[in-house]
Amino acid sequence: MSDALSKLRQQLRQKLAELDRLLLPAFDSAPILPGTVHVSKHRCGKPHCHCASGRELHEALRLQIRFQDGTANRCLSAEAGAFWRPRTEAYRRLRKAGRAFRKWEKEVRGLLEAIERARQSMEGLSDEDRKRPLR
Ligand SMILES: [Zn+2]
Repeated sequence: MSDALSKLRQQLRQKLAELDRLLLPAFDSAPILPGTVHVSKHRCGKPHCHCASGRELHEALRLQIRFQDGTANRCLSAEAGAFWRPRTEAYRRLRKAGRAFRKWEKEVRGLLEAIERARQSMEGLSDEDRKRPLR
């Protein structure tokens, strides 16, 4: 086996080991919600409120929900935040796994193509056929 081929196989084995870790979020069964929990800072609009100067803004815990037809924002209590945050974080982990898998797939496809090139042999072909590049 050529050095190039054994190096490619080693890389492929590494990719295989990566896959287990990469897909871990898909084996979690916690409920998910497409969205984010975040703290928004805002002015209330009252002219004499401490927030009017822009130094001390009001903070509110918010849930942004992603629906198929758009997003919605809901105000949350701290208790509700503790309920929704893990669900939105689990959603993000799963989406991240999907992106990482697409990258993984592209890299593995590249390795397979490189392995294919490294294993191509003209051995046994006629002189005439050897002049033509293989696919
Ligand atoms: Zn205010």
